[in-house]
Amino acid sequence: MQDTAVIGAGTMGHGIAYSLLTGGYRVVLVDSSEVVLEKARGTIRSLLADAAGRGLLSPARAEAAYAALTTSTALESVQPAELVIEAVPEDLALKHAILSAVDRICQGRPILATNTSALSITEIATATKDPARVVGMHYFNPVHKMKLIEIIRGLETGREAVETALAVAARCGKETVVVNEAPGFATSRISALIGNEAFYMLMEGVASARDIDRAVRLGLNHPMGPFEVADLVGLDTRLRVLEHLHATLGEKFRPCPLLVKYVKAGRLGRKVGRGVYDYTHAGGAETDAKNGTASSPSSS
Ligand code: NAD
Repeated sequence: MQDTAVIGAGTMGHGIAYSLLTGGYRVVLVDSSEVVLEKARGTIRSLLADAAGRGLLSPARAEAAYAALTTSTALESVQPAELVIEAVPEDLALKHAILSAVDRICQGRPILATNTSALSITEIATATKDPARVVGMHYFNPVHKMKLIEIIRGLETGREAVETALAVAARCGKETVVVNEAPGFATSRISALIGNEAFYMLMEGVASARDIDRAVRLGLNHPMGPFEVADLVGLDTRLRVLEHLHATLGEKFRPCPLLVKYVKAGRLGRKVGRGVYDYTHAGGAETDAKNGTASSPSSS
């Protein structure tokens, strides 16, 4: 297999495209926004240059990888792909629309992977004529640094789809776990619970965001605090995951009202420059957007 496509070039999509390029695949990266695609091309180019600079790829391989990338706003350009990975926002209706269009365009040929954080693979697959070809490939943020891809088997997912996902992950140097479908899989379920609890603690005034993050990093040995993770993930994405887990798994996942308020205010995290922390200050200093104190999130 050589030709792949990624749909959605946002927080996750550009990283997934980068990972496929480092594995030697050709990649068509599709997004409805030309601005997003332009930014994704720039980020992928600098990630490849950085990998070459650190000796992870030869300069020739980095150049070849960049040359293997094409970008497009037309969904039809995924037509030659043998593996299509969707990374559009966490919205079942949107994912259905994308997968059924890809099914039509590609005439039922490729394996279709979804990067959903928590939605049902079985339900996403109902948009296609052949659900056996649909599998979950759950990448982690930031993709170029995170080792794992969670491979999720829906009710109808066939062996070829799982084997293709495993083979692609291995060729790109990623580790894998295979899980049977359950809301939030093995990772998002835990991560969403910790992140939501942190917002309740902030709302109750237990400590500042900065100190809760510090406590979790230094006391529990997590590489990042829960608010640093939330700002990286995107508060809107985190909220959508929690809403799904609340609907499927019950009360303990009820989204914290403070998180809902931040999303309503447009404080969506690093991608917009402001979430729990403020990233807009000169020199890149980050401040706690609630109480204005300086913070020092770990790099990840
Ligand atoms: P994002 O909002 O950063 O990016 C989504 C992209 O999809 C945007 O660039 C948008 O322009 C594009 N898009 C929207 N509608 C489109 C359409 N009809 N056709 C083509 N492009 C379209 O979202 P994200 O954080 O990258 O999340 C994408 C998926 O990955 C979601 O399912 C999310 O749950 C999952 N995920 C996110 C993270 C994370 O940390 N953000 C981690 C793992 C999985």
